[in-house]
Amino acid sequence: MKKTGVAVIGYGGMGGWHTRHLLESDVAELRGIYDIKESRNRLAEENGIHAYGSLDELLADKSVEIVTIAIPNDQHKPVAIRAMEAGKHVICEKPVTLSSADLQEIFDAAERCDRLFTTHQNRRWDCDYLMMKEAYASGKLGQVFGIESRYQGSRGIPGDWRGHKKFGGGMMLDWGVHLIDQMLGIVYDKKVESLYCKFDHITNDEVDDGFKLDLYFEGGLTARIEVGTSHFMSLPRFFMTGMSGTAMINDWKDNCRLICCDQWEEKDVTPVVTSAGLTKTMAPRDAKTTTESFIERPESDVHDFYRNFCAAVKGEADMIVTHAQLMRVMKIMEASFVSDELGAPIKIDDYIA
Ligand code: NAD
Repeated sequence: MKKTGVAVIGYGGMGGWHTRHLLESDVAELRGIYDIKESRNRLAEENGIHAYGSLDELLADKSVEIVTIAIPNDQHKPVAIRAMEAGKHVICEKPVTLSSADLQEIFDAAERCDRLFTTHQNRRWDCDYLMMKEAYASGKLGQVFGIESRYQGSRGIPGDWRGHKKFGGGMMLDWGVHLIDQMLGIVYDKKVESLYCKFDHITNDEVDDGFKLDLYFEGGLTARIEVGTSHFMSLPRFFMTGMSGTAMINDWKDNCRLICCDQWEEKDVTPVVTSAGLTKTMAPRDAKTTTESFIERPESDVHDFYRNFCAAVKGEADMIVTHAQLMRVMKIMEASFVSDELGAPIKIDDYIA
């Protein structure tokens, strides 16, 4: 099978990731990279990767069918549109743009140029997310009314363009984009009705260095998404509560643990003794009334992202990451900024078409 030619724009952290994955790919072939910094181009050549002399030279290479864009967020739009106008299909790093209006301009350009455009939502292949998706869809917890998704680090914002608003910095755009996309993938059967968001500015005044976002889905399900960069201990990565069970993934590497109640008639409770007295209400259920089970980490191969896009370019598959999904996430991020500014919940109808 002939492999699809791909060139990468931007040879920084994520550009390096793409080139490494493309060198191992069974469907795509790395043609080269282009970075505006000469030192990065030289480094690529030292690593045995062809560096184009200019963006025009890269775009003129007829053996390149797909261009992957891995440059700071504020520059995605002009480069993506230019690449599609040059006849290339485009994979753009997340977050595609800083606003839904800019995102729409990219979609319009894709349609005008008859090119495919998608975004590297690679955290759809994360095992913790896939296990939570299964926990929700399995129905084992009964009606789910709460989901919590968190990433909590302690190193602040990376000291690069991510600390500056004009480049599209901040944790909402950096990590929120993944966690919102995942949450909408887990709760596949309900619409978000409203949201409330509060940003942190613990180490950085200019952009958020963390946030707490509550999404209120129809039917009474609340999902909390939380990112922190000044946490020296972390709450569980995922927590899901339903009418008859709870699921939890403690850390990136753990399996998903489920505790479900299957003996509702059993009334025996061993009270918990606290300094203030006894409590039965808050006493944990024992093994007589509950069953513990696990969802094992599934097989997951992030190469499926390029496999899917290369197949879509050949007309053999639909894109996994669709424009409608990207727009929903963008509009939720936009509404989060408004909510933080107003200090108020936002109804989503105005934001989600
Ligand atoms: P980085 O700063 O490490 O690298 C960016 C590179 O782009 C630099 O080498 C810079 O010289 C180059 N560059 C800047 N403007 C350019 C232009 N106009 N043309 C060509 N090269 C240009 O940043 P990064 O961490 O690699 O992030 C790049 C993108 O990847 C961002 O959009 C970021 O959000 C995304 N990213 C995604 C993931 C993921 O898991 N999907 C992880 C990290 C970063």
